[in-house]
Order: sequence, then C-alpha cells, then structure tokens
Amino acid sequence: MGRRARIMATMGPSVSDPQSVDSLIEAGMDAARINASHSRPEEIERSITLLKEARERAGKPLAIVLDLMGPKMRVGEIKGGVAVLRFGQDFTLTTSPVQGNEHRVHVDMPAPPPDLLPGDEVLMDDGAIRLKVVKVRGGEVSCRVILGGELRPRKGVSFPGRRMNLPALTGKDLDDLRMGISLGVDWVALSLVRSAEDIKLLRKEIVECGGSQPVLAKIESGEALQNADEIIEASDAVMVARGDLGVERPIEEVPLIQKELVRRTALKGKPVVVATQIMESMVYHPYPTRAEASDIANAVLEGADALMLAAETAIGKYPVKAVEMMGRIISRAEGANPYEAWLRERERLIGQGTVEATCFAACELAGQVEARALVAITESGFTALQLSRFRPRSPVVALTPHAGAADRLKLAWGIEPLCMKTSGSLETRLRRAVRLLEEMGLAGKGDRVVLVAGLKGPRDPSSTTNLIKVEML
Ligand code: PEP
Repeated sequence: MGRRARIMATMGPSVSDPQSVDSLIEAGMDAARINASHSRPEEIERSITLLKEARERAGKPLAIVLDLMGPKMRVGEIKGGVAVLRFGQDFTLTTSPVQGNEHRVHVDMPAPPPDLLPGDEVLMDDGAIRLKVVKVRGGEVSCRVILGGELRPRKGVSFPGRRMNLPALTGKDLDDLRMGISLGVDWVALSLVRSAEDIKLLRKEIVECGGSQPVLAKIESGEALQNADEIIEASDAVMVARGDLGVERPIEEVPLIQKELVRRTALKGKPVVVATQIMESMVYHPYPTRAEASDIANAVLEGADALMLAAETAIGKYPVKAVEMMGRIISRAEGANPYEAWLRERERLIGQGTVEATCFAACELAGQVEARALVAITESGFTALQLSRFRPRSPVVALTPHAGAADRLKLAWGIEPLCMKTSGSLETRLRRAVRLLEEMGLAGKGDRVVLVAGLKGPRDPSSTTNLIKVEML
C-alpha cells in the first residue's frame, strides 16, 4: 500500500531546472507550491511551465498550487541585501520608498497604520527580529530593537493583534492570479485569510479570470482562528501556516491550534496541509533532527492530508533528500494510523446526504471484506474526497475523465487519481475500471475491490454517488 499523506514542496532557486523538478517528483512530491510572495511574474510563469512539463514527462498527476501573497506586509529592498539590527538601537519603518539600511526600511503598510500604539510589538521574519513601537507619526513608525538579527529584503512584518485594514487581494495578487489561471494552475492559495468574505472575493476573481480553481485558505492569524469554522466552510482546503501563526499567537499554542484545525478541516472532508519549519534543519544538513521526525509523524497521526516543505526545497541544500526523508517518515508513521478510531469519529458526524452515507458505507464494507482498493468513478473528484474523508484502510483510487481533477486530488489524503473515460453504461464503466486496476497493478486475481459510482434511476435523474459494488477479480 502506498503512502497516504501527501508531500507538498515549495519551488525556488534550489529546484529551478527541469532535472531538479524531475528528481522531486521521482522522490515523491505530490503537490508543488509556487510562493508568489517571493516571485516576480516572470518567475511564476517559469515555475508553472517547468512543473507542467515535468508532470507531462513523469506521466502522473501533480497538483500545482499558486500561493498568493495576500494582505501581508513585507519589508522592501535593502542596500547590500542585508541590514544588521542590534539590541537597543533605533529603527524606523516607513511607507516612503527608501532603500533600506540598519536605520530604516520601507514597509508596504497603510499610513498611518491603524490601531498601532507606543509599546506595541513589531515582529519581522516570523519573529526572528522584534521591535517595540516608540512613536507613530503618519507613515513613519519609530521603534527600538528588542531582538536583533539580520534583516533581508521581502521578509514579513506583523503587528500582532492589530488589524491593518488591508484589502484581501492586492494589485500584485490579481496580476499573479491572472497569470496562474491563464497557465492552468490546479489550486489557488491565499495568505492571511481573515474571514469567509476573503475567500468569496477570491472565488469571484478566479471566475472573472475565466477559471474554476479550488481555493486553499492559509490560516495564520488570530482573526482567522476566530473565524475558522466559516473559513473552512467557504474554502476547498486549509493550510495550518505555522510560520505566521507562531508570530500572531504565543508559540506554545501552535501545536494545539494545529491539532484542532487539522481535526475540524479533515472531518469536513476537505484537505488540510500542515506547513512550515517541518524539517528546517535540512535547509543546511542532509539529515533531519529527531524532533522534526516526530513532528512529521505526529501530523500524520493527527490525520493531516499533506505536509509542506518550504525553505527546505525552495532554498535548501538538500531538496530531494528532504522529500525522500519526509516520505520515509510518513510511511513509517502510517503503520500506526488509527483507522478504526478515525472511521468511528467520522461516523458520528455524517448526515443524511446520499453521497456521504454511500461513501461511509463503502468504507465500512471495504474494511469488512479487506478490499485491495476502494474505487470511485468520479467526474469532479468529489466522491473520492468523500471516501478519503473517512480515512479508510483500503487505498482510494479515483477514476476521472478529467486530468485537471486528477491533479487537484493529489493534495488529498490517500487518493490515487487515474484518468479514465466515465461515459457509457454502468457495466461498461465498471468493466473499464477493473481492467485499469489490473493494468496498473493496483489489484490482481483473487482480490476484492469495492467500486462506488452513480447511476440514474427511473425516478431520480441525478447520477450522484449512490451505488456500491463488491467485485472479486
Ligand atoms: C506560514 O506562514 O507558515 C506560511 C506557510 O506562509 P508564507 O510561507 O507565505 O509565509
């Protein structure tokens, strides 16, 4: 049985040529993230093209995720590429377009920053550098350095607990979105989502750009946590973005926030990604720490759909080793997956909807007959997601006629998506499905498989998922 939890890897200078991307796919990358915060439009275009070509060469699905910067404040350019800030010195944040140095730096914040008061903390680079506000005047925030460090261009800036009144989508986001949609990315992620309204706005813009991509909400602020249920409801997937979460909330809260968000999102049948510093030491070292291995295993046992590598693959020295190592740790942890407990927990939550009830019954049945595979014959991939939601022990195979749906499903727990024509009578579809399973080596003589499909009835014209068949090969 293959690995169930997915690996998302972030693109960047360390993996910017075709061979590197081929090696990442070979090593087990299921989804690739393009972080628009750190990319110019031509770099975004290049990454998408590179990934699509590599996916074509590999002949297997891959989810390409465009991660929009959203309303995130960042420092501007810095003379010489780095400014060293020392404890106790004065440092000014300004909206003026200055080239930064050790005294001041440009920040794309509103002027004046609403709510900001003397005594407030300012965190830069996910909290690696900390300042205390001394005075706010117009577009200038005078501060004192309370934790020094090396400040580099484009690093994030946050005023914890303060709402900055920035639009959910910036001009850059809209340009990046247009580019991503025209090149056919599979998912669009949005940083610093605050409420369901932000997601609705993004969906509207996607449609206006001529797309229909699903939306992944990055939950990374206190405000998003307060609105977590409505955000999960409005989105197609969620990311626990631990970098900013650990800045916005006390770091000791992050593990519990992660547990809760993973649980709540997965119960809804939507993919949930755990992100950031997951194997940070592998940016410089060929081997992770014991704590990092435990972090990965715990995310798997919590039921996360996917785990994301960021700096490890984008700028790290060992991007391919990081993916391989993550795959090994996940696979080993999955030997202890609590399948029965997951199924019972989810059973309590299902409603009377035909699709979810059918999918739950199929998962129960697959467990009972020890099915070699649970097969969804699906157009959009929704049925496969519903099966994955119950975290069955049998692998879920999604057979869809749409390559785009297959690529999108690579973000979700335990689904092997394959392309197959889904036209014709039910018998034709089932026969085709079984033949494909045999051809792909996913099931063989003597195995039982559980097939889930939709059939129109004499009084029910919809072909929603409503049928289960056990097949002995
Ligand atoms: C994070 O903050 O954890 C995150 C994934 O977002 P970004 O990489 O855009 O800072």
